[in-house]
Amino acid sequence: MTRHVPALVVGGGISGLVCAYALQKAGIEVLLVEASGRPGGVINSLSRDGYLLELGPQSFSGTAQLRSLCAELGISDQLLEAPAKAPRYVLVNGKLQAVPMSPPALFTSSLVDRSTKWALVRDIFGKSVPPEDDESVADFVRRKFSDQLLDRLVGPFVSGVHAGDPEKLSLRSAFPQLYEAERTAGSIVRGMMRLAKAKKGPRERPALHTFREGNETLVRALASKLGSTILTGTRAAALSRENDGAFLVSLEGGFSDSLSARSVILATPADVSEKLLAQLDPSFQSLLALVEYAAVAVVSLGYARKHLGHSLEGFGFLVPRSAGLRILGTVWNSSLFPGRAPEGHALLTSFVGGATDPAAAKLNPEELSALVRREIAPLLSTESAPSFCNVTIWPRALPQYNLGHANRLASINKNLLRFPGIFLTGNYLRGPAIGACIEQAFAGAEEVKAYAA
Ligand SMILES: Cc1cc2nc3c(=O)[nH]c(=O)nc-3n(C[C@H](O)[C@H](O)[C@H](O)COP(=O)(O)OP(=O)(O)OC[C@H]3O[C@@H](n4cnc5c(N)ncnc54)[C@H](O)[C@@H]3O)c2cc1C
Repeated sequence: MTRHVPALVVGGGISGLVCAYALQKAGIEVLLVEASGRPGGVINSLSRDGYLLELGPQSFSGTAQLRSLCAELGISDQLLEAPAKAPRYVLVNGKLQAVPMSPPALFTSSLVDRSTKWALVRDIFGKSVPPEDDESVADFVRRKFSDQLLDRLVGPFVSGVHAGDPEKLSLRSAFPQLYEAERTAGSIVRGMMRLAKAKKGPRERPALHTFREGNETLVRALASKLGSTILTGTRAAALSRENDGAFLVSLEGGFSDSLSARSVILATPADVSEKLLAQLDPSFQSLLALVEYAAVAVVSLGYARKHLGHSLEGFGFLVPRSAGLRILGTVWNSSLFPGRAPEGHALLTSFVGGATDPAAAKLNPEELSALVRREIAPLLSTESAPSFCNVTIWPRALPQYNLGHANRLASINKNLLRFPGIFLTGNYLRGPAIGACIEQAFAGAEEVKAYAA
């Protein structure tokens, strides 16, 4: 039996949930199908043995749009904001050293040498022009600043945000603001200041946030607004176009009939969207298959506070690849937010793998927890075993905004013009962060509304 629905969202991660919510709010009848047994995708909070941990994203930037969504959903009072001034550390010369958080702080920091500081002065007072060709993050930092800045600060930051390889990541796709700053002002510092001034709307609070009961609070609130609109355990298996221009989606699992929809919004990872779109036009395959993903293992360890020699005051630390460790970095969750660990204990979450170490996420959970324990022990002055451990391996954790991304996106959008009624949203398009996914999902819903009108 085929059921008709005006709009069908495929995928119930944050992108699909927000898109379906925005459509429902606009009065458009919508259905969301989610392959797994729960909505939320990679957003997954777990309470165990007195610890509250995040198996995927640890926190999110409190963008104005995200905070306004929380207000609408009635969950603003559950938001927690990390201390804005919490220091971040980077491992240099075997020691955790505080990261300078502004250009003036970089001038006084011993983390970078004189020639890097001079390069900063040249940027502030000089003028440079970005190359026409897509430039990697690494080439950009070498051209504008220095190898040292790339190794000690930018590379670790890139691991922290994208789990990416700076030699492959496209500056204009992964860090569009930096590219725009240089393009419009001829200087990163002047351009960034100009962009901040020009930004309209309520002041952004880029501080990191979570919810009292974990990131999943946002998922639960959206799911409760959507109610029976969500069909979990239901996988979209095939997609075809009908004679009247609507799309037929065959489903497997809980609701195993077909659905016919005038608008289909694919909020699925690139490989799934690729398989579905290739049924409409095989050329989607070559475009979407090129979006690489990095695997990441998330290792959460709990220690009795008295067994750790470090104060753990701050956000945590990042590890330059030149340090020779396999961990990319460690977040000190219980230093940032209350209620993450039992009294007298600390929760530390480390990340292993990423685009520069694909073999790491192929280790088994025991090997991964042993590796993390071994690597963080000297940094946090502990010889004790953790009293709590959880390992989550994400074989396709984060999409990589690698060189050529903008062109690929343009070709995908051009192909989509031949299939009015098909829309894409998700973390592999214009930003992987939760705030960016929410922004794209709202924008996608606007396009669907315009099409449905
Ligand atoms: C380890 C990790 C750490 C991260 N850290 C941060 C962080 O600190 N801060 C931050 O802002 N962001 C972070 N991110 C990124 C951010 O969490 C994700 O980019 C975002 O949540 C992705 O949402 P999504 O809805 O686009 O995709 P997903 O969450 O991947 O959701 C896609 C959904 O589609 C479903 N699906 C797949 N195939 C089908 C099908 N055929 N039919 C129906 N449903 C299907 C899947 O089951 C899934 O639920 C992190 C991500 C990971 C993995």
